[in-house]
Amino acid sequence: MVQRERVSDNVYSFQSEVYAQVTAGAVIGPNWAVVIDTLAIPEETLEIREFIERDLEVPVRYVINTHYHADHSWGNCFFPGATIIAHSNCRHLLETIGEASLSEVKKHNNSFRHVEIVTPHITFEENNLNLRVGKKTLTMIPLPGHSNDNIGILVEEDRVLFAGDAFMPMPYIVDGDLDDLVTSIKKIGKMGLENVIQGHGDIVLRGEIDAALKEDLSYLSNLRKAVRKASRRKYPLEVLDEIDVESCGKSRVLIGGLAAELHKRNLRALYRKQYGEPLIRPLEDDEYYDEEELEED
Ligand SMILES: [Zn+2]
Repeated sequence: MVQRERVSDNVYSFQSEVYAQVTAGAVIGPNWAVVIDTLAIPEETLEIREFIERDLEVPVRYVINTHYHADHSWGNCFFPGATIIAHSNCRHLLETIGEASLSEVKKHNNSFRHVEIVTPHITFEENNLNLRVGKKTLTMIPLPGHSNDNIGILVEEDRVLFAGDAFMPMPYIVDGDLDDLVTSIKKIGKMGLENVIQGHGDIVLRGEIDAALKEDLSYLSNLRKAVRKASRRKYPLEVLDEIDVESCGKSRVLIGGLAAELHKRNLRALYRKQYGEPLIRPLEDDEYYDEEELEED
């Protein structure tokens, strides 16, 4: 159920085959290991634990959450002996939104019955945080924009970045901030990386990183233009819904086919943030009939 890849010595990435190509990672030390994010479905997280603790024979001592979203953090409870590390906003968001949405999900989804929210034990804010694992140094770096708690984890010696959702096949800003994400993407571009493990999707190799970041920045600027264009119209949603994902420079097959839907949500969220609630055309609007009559003439 989980695809595993060895990224470099003692560094692994995992990708879900079930949900939105979401990823996780692990860095293995001589006596204990660090897990970076958990996966969407409990069985997948348990598969990662089995691999590390049974096959590699080291206990998981730390779990780092890149951000609070369910598909990255709801597996914390499957590492009961581990210390959880995240941004301080992540703790707050798990305590509030996380707890509430888990109890909602439990009402109709039996596979989450054993899941409990485990909030981070160690948190940090603006400054980076370091963790030494065997011969590797992990640097945790705030990369907000997808959400305000998103962090990346850089394996310094290997120049491998676990980016959380700051790096995805298509940027997603509904729960975040476009300007923050632009800043984070530019920051990633200056890191001199060998590999990026995106929060969703395949590993991005050194030669592909710059082009991918450029494409993301151009997508975000297209979103901005689209929303501005819509704002000049009386009924902005009608314009927004016509601006498809391809015209903003991304393919709809990305993120396991979710891209078109996520794109639509991006547009609407950005519109609301900048211009407030859009006016929706009432069913019996005179202007509507006028246009129809005009067309018939
Ligand atoms: Zn997310």
